[in-house]
Amino acid sequence: MSPPAVPEPFYWISSPCGLVLRCRPLDDIAPHLFTTRDALLSSTEGWWRLGDAVGAERVATLDQVHGRDVVAVAPGAAPPSGRPKADALVSSDPSVAIAVRAADCVPLLLADRRTGAVAAVHAGWRGTAAGVAAAAVEALQCGLGVKPRDLVAAIGPTIGACCYEVGRDVADAFAAAGHAPHLRERWFVGRDPGPGIRDPEELRLDLVAANRDQLVLAGVPEAQIHACGLCTAMHLDVLTSYRAEKEKAGRIAAAIRCREYNPA
Ligand SMILES: [Zn+2]
Repeated sequence: MSPPAVPEPFYWISSPCGLVLRCRPLDDIAPHLFTTRDALLSSTEGWWRLGDAVGAERVATLDQVHGRDVVAVAPGAAPPSGRPKADALVSSDPSVAIAVRAADCVPLLLADRRTGAVAAVHAGWRGTAAGVAAAAVEALQCGLGVKPRDLVAAIGPTIGACCYEVGRDVADAFAAAGHAPHLRERWFVGRDPGPGIRDPEELRLDLVAANRDQLVLAGVPEAQIHACGLCTAMHLDVLTSYRAEKEKAGRIAAAIRCREYNPA
């Protein structure tokens, strides 16, 4: 398997859970990874290996429901039992890796240069419309004393606007959620024939642009937001895509562990 080229500051590396993608600016803050088809996430051993790859004793995951709820993991606190229904995790616990799964949706990792706190976010179109990335920044800010300007973000493989045609209902949902028209124009690319004229083939959603903009609006400096630019539907030898593979699609995971937490 020869992995597709990725732009700086991303790089491929082999790990206990196979080939993974990493982002250099995050390396300095927190052990993390984006998995590939190599990681067998349908098995307990697969998750154990993923925890091992980031030096964690255990991995906290979610029952992802395409919303904006955030679960917090803290040292000494009772761990979330089972898989809570939510789409983002924040953590200040060095013994636990937090992980989200995706097959086209945006897997997003955040780490704070100052305190060391981390977040993992799953943002499909519904979660993006609901602003789950901003909800994670807010949880870091309010719960763990993070200043958004100190956050570094890495956006992993996501279905690209190249392969993500959506219906007008999706654009309508973003409008109903209150996202500004000038932003929606950036996120929905291709000819938009306007209200009343149905031409869904021409409408494509750029999930990465939408999440990047939402992070910037939440106070994360744009220069600290890195996207690997890989389209899941175009690299099926390495990645996995629900759009391209339907029910056969596996999942990739994005995982990160807080190395140490210093709120002072
Ligand atoms: Zn594509």
